[in-house]
Formats: sequence, structure tokens, C-alpha cells
Amino acid sequence: MLEPGEIPEIEPNIRVGIILPEDERVNISIELPADQDYLLVDTNSKLRKLKKGKLLNFRIDNEQCFLDRENSSLIKSTGFKIVPVSDDYKMKKKAGVKVKNVVSGRSFHWKKNIDVNLTGSIEIIPHINNIILINELPLEEYLMCVATSEMGITCPDALLESQTIIARSWILANVEQKHRHLGMDVCNDDCCQRYQGTNNLSQQSTQGARNTFGQVLIYENSICDTRYSKSCGGVLESFNNVWNGASKPYLKPIPDAPADFNNSNLPLNTENKVNGWITSEPETFCSPHYIPEEELIQYLGSIDKAGRYFRWEFHYTQEELTALLNKKCALKAEKIIAIKPVKRGYSGRLIKLRIEYLKNGQRQAKLIEDQYRIRECFHESFLYSSAFIVEPDSGSIPPTGFTLKGAGWGHGVGYCQIGALGMALHDYSTEDILSHYYPGAKLIKIY
Ligand SMILES: [Zn+2]
Ligand SMILES: [Zn+2]
Repeated sequence: MLEPGEIPEIEPNIRVGIILPEDERVNISIELPADQDYLLVDTNSKLRKLKKGKLLNFRIDNEQCFLDRENSSLIKSTGFKIVPVSDDYKMKKKAGVKVKNVVSGRSFHWKKNIDVNLTGSIEIIPHINNIILINELPLEEYLMCVATSEMGITCPDALLESQTIIARSWILANVEQKHRHLGMDVCNDDCCQRYQGTNNLSQQSTQGARNTFGQVLIYENSICDTRYSKSCGGVLESFNNVWNGASKPYLKPIPDAPADFNNSNLPLNTENKVNGWITSEPETFCSPHYIPEEELIQYLGSIDKAGRYFRWEFHYTQEELTALLNKKCALKAEKIIAIKPVKRGYSGRLIKLRIEYLKNGQRQAKLIEDQYRIRECFHESFLYSSAFIVEPDSGSIPPTGFTLKGAGWGHGVGYCQIGALGMALHDYSTEDILSHYYPGAKLIKIY
């Protein structure tokens, strides 16, 4: 596994969690490729050669793993490994073993199950009453896959190269370590970085990784913690409005726009300014001015829904919002009276808000803190961002409904993927893009 704070001198292997305990899986099907030999290794280190193209069905029972076989007995072990006989294989679309029904978009509104093709080796390990699955592979192979899992294959080179460099920097900075206790460096999803194996691998993304082999962003002798999100909505949020811990000098709250952009409205720290900002379309890199939203779908990753991310809006009836907030925030409210902003970040993202409601005929209030928690509460699965204003239907109090008008998708800190796409489409270079989103950081080749 990667060691926190260590700058590797040769390309490391990394361990990616593909099936996690929360997926609650008790069986897993894996299809071997027709053009490559694999070995099965059990926990007693017994090796078995596997047939090309074979479908393997694993299951767990009583903390033991079983591999069902057609004409012979079961193989039982406390874990299995599937290892390629040779590492001399070509990185191409759909290379590697196919793991069926892997969750993508875990706990987000775009959640679905997909089959993923994985190079490197696979480990199947019992975890209490479930199975987890870990993919171990060379970092650069992983990065070739991340670039096109995060964005579509038609992206310009400067976008794929910059995306690859920040994906490499983020994983090697290794700050978050959300899954280390499970023996994983990262998971396969938006919680860490979206990785769908070789499913969408293209010549372009492979080239993007090769062109930037071993390059990372460095600030004061440490690899930068290069956070990124899909769309900032026009202004980058500051690190400390989203996470705890020491602030990072290269994660600055700045407009996502050229240097001559008129930023007299920033920061968005009054309701007047936020209203004006969200109900307009300032010409930032992630705005339709740089990339028309109807063209976005060809560049975004294959599982994202077509839609509007720079500015979005939707309406809840009084009944819908009451039911939602009762479920998500345990209010036991009869009616919602108002949603009041209490504190916003630089980008207009709400980091504290107050819900005013009626319970047993009495007026009550509840504070919701943290942009993540706010996004969780205000959508059945997860709201695009917490940069929103709430307009009650006019006429009565409590109102008959509420309209949410918002900006951006994600936490908005660091690299804005749609903004970087806007820059790349307007001939900004990989270096221009990186120095815009991580001012003061240096691009260095470490291996
Ligand atoms: Zn994760
Ligand atoms: Zn942006």
C-alpha cells in the first residue's frame, strides 16, 4: 500500500476497492478474458490454472469463500486471488477480467450497477458476512482508466493530461485514506476517484498518462492534495469551508475565469450577491459561454446524466419538502415555514442553514451544518451542490412549495472539471490549466 507522506521514486502499485462492505454482496461473478491466462491462488497458496473465457461464481457463507465449479467439488478458502500469468498484456478497451454488477455512484442520485473490466490482480476477501473485492495494479494503468472514467473519451488532450496529473497527485498525496483499514488505498467511486477499469479506455487517455508519466504537482516539498469537483458554478470554494484541517495555500477561493474577469461581486457573502450570481450566467470557464451545456454530454463520463450543472433549479411542493426533511433530518414537522441561509462560503455554497417549521402547531427551528450534510438533506439521494437559494411560492405562509435555484456540481474546491474542459477547448495548455486551479504549485516528474 502507499505510505502517507512518502514520495515514490519508482511507479508504485495501488490497491483499489471495487466491492466494499456497504455494497452488502454475498456473491460475485467474474468472467475471465478469452485472450489471457490467469491463476487462482487460495489462502493456502495453492495455485490452479484457470480456463480462458471462464465464468467464476464466488460466494460467502459463514465467513468462508467458495468458488462453485461445474463438474467437481467446491473450492473453499478464506480468500482468493486471481493473478495474470504474465504482465505483458496490452492496455486496451475492455482488457482484463470482467467483474459483474459493480456499484457506480454509491449513495448518489446517479447510482447504478455496471460490469467493469480490470487489469492487474483481483482479491476476493470475506468481510464479516459480505465479500469485498480489491484490484491491485500499477498506478499508471489505474490513471489511464481514471481519466476516461471521470470524463468522456472525446475530451481535448489538455483536459485529459491535466486530469491525469491531478488524479496522480491526489492519490500520491494520500491525505484522505478513507479505506486504509480495509487494505485499500482508494475505492472505485466518486468518494475517492471514479475508476471503471478499462471500460472506456481510449488511445487518447492512454496517451494522456504516457505523456505525463510520473508528473505531479508539488508545493513546498510535498505532493499537492489536488482536490477537484465537477463544476464549481463560477467560483472556487476554499478548502476550510468544506473540510477540517490546515488550509492549503494552493486551494484558493478565486473566480473560475480569466484574469481580467470583473469580480466586483465576489466573495458571494451577502444574499443579494448570491441571488444576483445564481440567477445570472457570468462568463466563467465552466459556464455555457465556454462550453454549451448541450455539448457537455459528449465530454462527461459515460454514466453521468445529460443535464444542466452550471445553473439548475427544481421545485418541491410543501408536502414533498416536509416529507423529505422529516425523513432526512428527523424533524416530525407538520409544515415547513422557511429555509434561511445562515452562513455561506466564497462560492455561495451554504455551510449553515436553518429550517423553520411547525411541529404540534408550534414554531420550531433546526440548524443544518456542513455543505455535505445540506446536500444530503435537500435531495432524495444527493443535491448537486449547496450553492443554492430558496424561493418560496408566493401567496401563503407556510408556502405551498419551494423552488431551489442552484449553481455547480460538487464541493467546488480546486480543479473544476467542466471549467478545465472550457479552458482546454479554448486552447489553454495543460500547464495553464494546472496553474489556474492550483496557483503556486510546481509541476515535477518524480519517477
Ligand atoms: Zn472512497
Ligand atoms: Zn468552475
